[in-house]
Amino acid sequence: MTSVMWFRRDLRLADNPALCAAADDGPVLPLFVLDPTLWGPAGPSRRAYLGASLRSLDASLRQRQAGLSVVRGDPVRRVVLAAKAVGAESVHVSADFGPYGAERDRRVEEALEEAGIAFVRTGSPYAVDPGTVRNGSGQNFKVFTPFSRRWADHGWPSPLDAPTGVSWLSLDDTGESTTEIPDPDLPAGLELPEAGEAAAHSQWERFLDKVAAYDDDRDRPGVDGTSRMSVHLKYGEVHPRQLLADLSGRTGKGASTYRTDLAWRDFYADVLHARPDSAREYYKPEFAKMPYDRPGKQLEAWAAGRTGYPIVDAGMRQLRATGWMHNRVRMIVASFLVKDLHVEWQHGARHFLHWLVDGDLASNNHGWQWTAGSGTDASPFFRVFNPTTQGQKFDPPGDYVRRWVEELSDPDQVPDPHDPDPDTRDLVGYPPPMVDHKEERREALDRYEKIRG
Ligand SMILES: Cc1cc2nc3c(=O)[nH]c(=O)nc-3n(C[C@H](O)[C@H](O)[C@H](O)COP(=O)(O)OP(=O)(O)OC[C@H]3O[C@@H](n4cnc5c(N)ncnc54)[C@H](O)[C@@H]3O)c2cc1C
Repeated sequence: MTSVMWFRRDLRLADNPALCAAADDGPVLPLFVLDPTLWGPAGPSRRAYLGASLRSLDASLRQRQAGLSVVRGDPVRRVVLAAKAVGAESVHVSADFGPYGAERDRRVEEALEEAGIAFVRTGSPYAVDPGTVRNGSGQNFKVFTPFSRRWADHGWPSPLDAPTGVSWLSLDDTGESTTEIPDPDLPAGLELPEAGEAAAHSQWERFLDKVAAYDDDRDRPGVDGTSRMSVHLKYGEVHPRQLLADLSGRTGKGASTYRTDLAWRDFYADVLHARPDSAREYYKPEFAKMPYDRPGKQLEAWAAGRTGYPIVDAGMRQLRATGWMHNRVRMIVASFLVKDLHVEWQHGARHFLHWLVDGDLASNNHGWQWTAGSGTDASPFFRVFNPTTQGQKFDPPGDYVRRWVEELSDPDQVPDPHDPDPDTRDLVGYPPPMVDHKEERREALDRYEKIRG
């Protein structure tokens, strides 16, 4: 029985249960659909990375005398046409639980059904599928810690090998039109990590050597102490199940903290699945009533890394240069936008999704809501990060700030990179703080008082 393997956020051959299920059926057409609805808003980092990841998957398939068939257009139409072109009786996917993906899949399934073709979901991009972990009353969890315990108790299957002996098909052998894998130019100054399944595994191997130190190093943006796996997980070049399996024999604090961080990824996907509206709206609706400022010059200065607060500017410039930002700094810059500049989190989240190569609706928008105080077990609104002391605490030698804020890079000219005095700022051309943190903290708390019950 012929089938289609429709790749989406699972751009790998190993440990891909949907692909194994397709191969079990018989000959397989490996398909990717460039969906204009997703491609349009993806932003330069993710478009370029996706192109590179698809080329890598295509190269792996070519080593097996096959190639990835890529088509452009509405998946509802293109998947059915592709399946019919090869005479497939089933289309296999890894399930999508996001608001857009779930609805798209429902429509594709309906269209396939009309054509007498089965739509088969096997696995998902998560260790535990969203909607699976439930509390005693059968509800989804709204607080992370009990979720993570139940999630760990639930467990996950062991990783699978890549299928062998598959008879691969191509749309080139049919009349169906295909398209080249896109290779968009990167904007000047942006450099991205290497894409693909092999790159994901090499990065993971490098990180495993230092996972023991993860618990100590993960909050130090000046140290290369985190795994940088988020982009590989985003595109499914590796599945979290594989990472969890590799960690399973390790008992130290580093490995256990890393496991917990992977649980955050599943938690936010679960929350978004339960509350799809929280992708755009306040998870805690009362926060919509708080007075905010219209975004304007202050949002522009923040996005450009010209706020005059070194750790904030370092983060925003790291984002623009690499499509990635350290987690601690994501929290600091998000807090600054919402609580010092009084701009709603959605504006910051949109900027992040434009530039982040790991940009993911669930982790990003709930990361923002957590910082803004409006999300699930969020950091309380009244706990306002002080950007200067955060820099001093988490980047004590100033390496991170000096690396990303060129004006502050010379220790002879700028002895204190976290709090340069006005003369030093003038000398090196670094702006004064755009707002007074103490005053804006008070202002944020006054606004918060208006919505407190
Ligand atoms: C405002 C804000 C926006 C964010 N946007 C995104 C996003 O768009 N995409 C994204 O993948 N992560 C996002 N995060 C979470 C986190 O910052 C990144 O996952 C992490 O920095 C990626 O780097 P890493 O792979 O080296 O992380 P590591 O520290 O090595 O963590 C390992 C993995 O655990 C997961 N993880 C860790 N922390 C979190 C978290 N707080 N929430 C969800 N998953 C987590 C990620 O999959 C990560 O790759 C955001 C956090 C905040 C505060």
